[in-house]
Amino acid sequence: MDLGATNTKMVVLHDDGETLRIDRIPAMPTAGGDGHDAVIARLITACEEHNAAHGPLAGLGVGTPGLFDADGVVTLFTNLPGQWKGVRLRERLTEAVRLPVTLINDARAFTLAEGTIGAGSGCSVLVCMTLGTGIGGGVMIDGEPFFGATGVAGEIAHQTVNPGGPVCGCGNQGCAEPMARADVLCATAGQDTVEAVFAGLAEDDARCIEAVRTAATYLGIALANAITLIGPERIVLGGGVMAAGDAILGPIREATYRHVTLVPHQDVQIVPAALGSEAGAIGAALAARSAATS
Ligand SMILES: [Zn+2]
Repeated sequence: MDLGATNTKMVVLHDDGETLRIDRIPAMPTAGGDGHDAVIARLITACEEHNAAHGPLAGLGVGTPGLFDADGVVTLFTNLPGQWKGVRLRERLTEAVRLPVTLINDARAFTLAEGTIGAGSGCSVLVCMTLGTGIGGGVMIDGEPFFGATGVAGEIAHQTVNPGGPVCGCGNQGCAEPMARADVLCATAGQDTVEAVFAGLAEDDARCIEAVRTAATYLGIALANAITLIGPERIVLGGGVMAAGDAILGPIREATYRHVTLVPHQDVQIVPAALGSEAGAIGAALAARSAATS
């Protein structure tokens, strides 16, 4: 499951030891405004239904829109309403569904999916970034997600890229996220939607051109820092904003390479994601599979 701000996406991952098969299940509205208890109850009901239909499931993986501690207690969900901080999410799900439950941050789940069967498969060192309502990130090293000693490594958009910039939802000032997330891009361009921003860009609208250039510049700084620090062979970009294709990919590539001086640009590919909007749910299922087989 991928617990998103708007919808919760679901897949069932079948692993017969040789091949992986993915069954996509229709998404359900998250309806976060109902509060965390109602959202958790819906996750439990959906899991029980699919356990009955496809079961027995070996485990449940849940991609979360934020961070949790080693005990599966929520520490920061930025894009879901309600009182999530302090909720013992993993314990509550485990007790209700009676399956091993694995939590993974949604962007790390996206990274795991793209790095295992998507646009980043086969890479020894991979960096991923999702561009949307928020901006997520993740790192894989030698085919495994890398969480660091702190458990939150890979938060690429919470690097400081503009010390005088706005305060971020994480509390830091000048992160890449508040410089480039979708609503900020729209506000800077004077447009209501991301689609309108890129339509304006295609029509040479000066504000839209400047808004895309500014967002790409700060994202490029964040990606260039990642290249310098961990040396990925590929960077995979996904999320709703990437629907604009080369109109956003091109400026991000240009801005990134402008700040990379230590390695030839052709040594680091920057490519679009391959798995579509279910990548997070697939990654959560892969994380649950890893937990079940380790
Ligand atoms: Zn931040």
